[in-house]
Amino acid sequence: MTDLTEYIIPFSGYKIGNHNFTFKIQKTFFDAFEYSEIKDGDLVVELLLEKSETMMIAYFDIAGEITLECDTCLGDVIETVSKKYRQIYKFTDDEDLNLTDEMTHVSFKEFEINVAPLIVEFINLCKPNKVNHEEGKCDEELTEMLNEYLLVEEHIEIESINNEEDEGDLDPRWNALRNLKNKQ
Ligand SMILES: [Zn+2]
Repeated sequence: MTDLTEYIIPFSGYKIGNHNFTFKIQKTFFDAFEYSEIKDGDLVVELLLEKSETMMIAYFDIAGEITLECDTCLGDVIETVSKKYRQIYKFTDDEDLNLTDEMTHVSFKEFEINVAPLIVEFINLCKPNKVNHEEGKCDEELTEMLNEYLLVEEHIEIESINNEEDEGDLDPRWNALRNLKNKQ
């Protein structure tokens, strides 16, 4: 189990004012979050926590590298990221208070916050929509294996379509696969 206790901030004992934290993020951190699309990376997160009587404002400065999966060959692609995010922790016991995404409700009874889930969420927001190696840099072996896999899938699709009486009702995935193949 990954120990995440360093991400728990016991704010109730803190003075009003600014507090700084530095977190080093590596693979073990991502291992603690199965749902994280990003599984590996090497990052530094600087956190500035501004505490006042009514709220805390957390400024996250995230910088480093994340390991992503190439859309074409599924090989590793290292992406450099540098992003800033802000989160507001509002002290309130009013459950009905309307909060935006950027705001978190913190009861006066609470004395600590865990920033790890927020950090993993922010790092995942850094992921670009499309991930690809530079042209010609894809892993040929992996691409070949993937193409073979797609051909097998296609074959299964043809069989299942032939077995269906209504051939007009094509599975859209089948069309997507055929288009993909025709492009090559
Ligand atoms: Zn690739």
